[in-house]
Amino acid sequence: MSESIKKRLEEVLTAAGACGCVECGKCVAVCPMVEMYADFGWEMSPRGMIRRALTDDADALLQDPAIWYCTGCNAGTRVCPEGVSCRDLIQGLRQLAIEAGMASRIRNCVICGAPFASLPVDDFVRKRLNGKTGNYLETCSACRQRRYAQRNA
Ligand code: SF4
Ligand code: SF4
Repeated sequence: MSESIKKRLEEVLTAAGACGCVECGKCVAVCPMVEMYADFGWEMSPRGMIRRALTDDADALLQDPAIWYCTGCNAGTRVCPEGVSCRDLIQGLRQLAIEAGMASRIRNCVICGAPFASLPVDDFVRKRLNGKTGNYLETCSACRQRRYAQRNA
């Protein structure tokens, strides 16, 4: 793990307020991942991710598929009595994994190639919609907006 990644990890932890977690579990009670994934486990729960971000080896954490299951709904953040943002923490970990070349569970935009969605969430949506997603899940929001603007110019 390079010094720059270590420093960036500390920045992510600080920005998300992760050190203030008192492990009350309120974020887990409202996290939709519990219902979404049959294999939901502590290691992918918001509380689990926070604990691991504070204690695990950073290399192991950034390579762990568990960081790609979060939907980014922010529900846990809204109920946290300590102001910890599970969403910001996990998004920060994902960004770091991409920067460090450790990301493997992402979908890339078919137009610009930028990573824009996690495969577990993408799979869940596709299953829910019985595959009827058109090309909506193929492109990042920036390219979608550009395409829409060109079509309606
Ligand atoms: S709700 Fe906040 S304090 Fe409680 S476990 Fe989740 S992150 Fe920690
Ligand atoms: S932002 Fe992620 S970890 Fe937090 S409640 Fe939503 S799905 Fe769970």
